[in-house]
Amino acid sequence: MRWFEILIWHDHRVCSECFARLTRPDPEPGESAMEPRTETATLGVDLIEPPASIANVAPMPEARTTCNECGSVRGLSQSETLSTSEATDRVPALAARLQEAGYHVKTDVIYRVVDHLKGLDRHTADDKRIFAIAAAKGVQR
Ligand SMILES: [Zn+2]
Repeated sequence: MRWFEILIWHDHRVCSECFARLTRPDPEPGESAMEPRTETATLGVDLIEPPASIANVAPMPEARTTCNECGSVRGLSQSETLSTSEATDRVPALAARLQEAGYHVKTDVIYRVVDHLKGLDRHTADDKRIFAIAAAKGVQR
């Protein structure tokens, strides 16, 4: 459990919702507004900016990472419990992250464990624990 938490859950580069690799978003088009407005400034119209436009050119929030796969902002896990199919949908990404960490992963084992634990009442609501157990079993030699 602890191993899983350190390796996957608390890795801010990995989405805790779907285990997708999080990437920094590309600079948004709005950032061009921060460029020196030499041409427009000479027109005199933009020399005095209303407060609203000053707010618009305020620094973008740093390191805002939104998951491309599930849309989870900052990769934080939602509190809702996954369905069995939703849980198994996340297995390939989880396996990929474990592989990247240098483990030999048996993806079919992870599938089986997730599927099995999802069918047990005492485990089904604890997705994090299910993935932790499945990950641990999936990397056993
Ligand atoms: Zn995600």
